[in-house]
Amino acid sequence: MILAALLIAGAVWFSLRYAWWRPAVDPRFPRILMYHMITEARPGARFNGLRVAPQMFERQLRWLSEQGWQSFTVSELVQQAGALPAKAFAITFDDGYADNLHRALPLLRKYGCKATLYLVVDRVGRDWSAERKAHHDQGELGREPKLSDAQVQELLDSGCIELGSHSLTHANFERLDAASVRRELAESKRELEQRFGRPVISFAYPFGLYRPAQIALVQQAGYRSAVTTREGIDNPALWKPLELRRVKISGKDNWLAFLLRMRSGRRGC
Ligand SMILES: [Zn+2]
Repeated sequence: MILAALLIAGAVWFSLRYAWWRPAVDPRFPRILMYHMITEARPGARFNGLRVAPQMFERQLRWLSEQGWQSFTVSELVQQAGALPAKAFAITFDDGYADNLHRALPLLRKYGCKATLYLVVDRVGRDWSAERKAHHDQGELGREPKLSDAQVQELLDSGCIELGSHSLTHANFERLDAASVRRELAESKRELEQRFGRPVISFAYPFGLYRPAQIALVQQAGYRSAVTTREGIDNPALWKPLELRRVKISGKDNWLAFLLRMRSGRRGC
């Protein structure tokens, strides 16, 4: 009796945690994967979900390549939306952490993968976590080494990285008036294009937060696509290019969770 109860409890826990019952999303619908850092977890740190271990990242890239998934930048996906092969995916890195160069780039090269880097203009030494919730600011993200402009240039010179904007200051758009949002959108685009001499036509909403009225401002600033932090996989025929959902790749996920996220776009409840 006790054993049966334990088995049922275990099955319920497993189902809630992994949501294995969610239907597989059509492989013709591209997966846009969201990463932040490629580095080992830090014991006791708050943001370990943002840290995917290099070994795990490599295992994911190897699996994608072995399974026939083809790598695109976000702008390539959007531009080619009507003519994409099945099993198309894009890798995205938010914020601009130094490990994107040191740890991620060698693996991207090894597996012939591209990525879109959503860079915050004012990022070095900054910690924006309190912009979302005041108690989140313990300096953890501020201490995390960010990419210098020279390192960003090195990433871009590799030929496999698209540069996107993640705003000037990683501001919380839900708290900004229209003029400030316009400034975050337009000045970050201009600043990044001037510094790095590349077109910046894709945007990532800081914290994934925005108000519906701000979507038009993203377009007016000259962006062709924008990614959110809402989890999921969309049919490219129905895409809203300024509100793209992503598949969150968490440093807290094990291998099974990664496979299920690739399959259904989400994990758990
Ligand atoms: Zn961010």
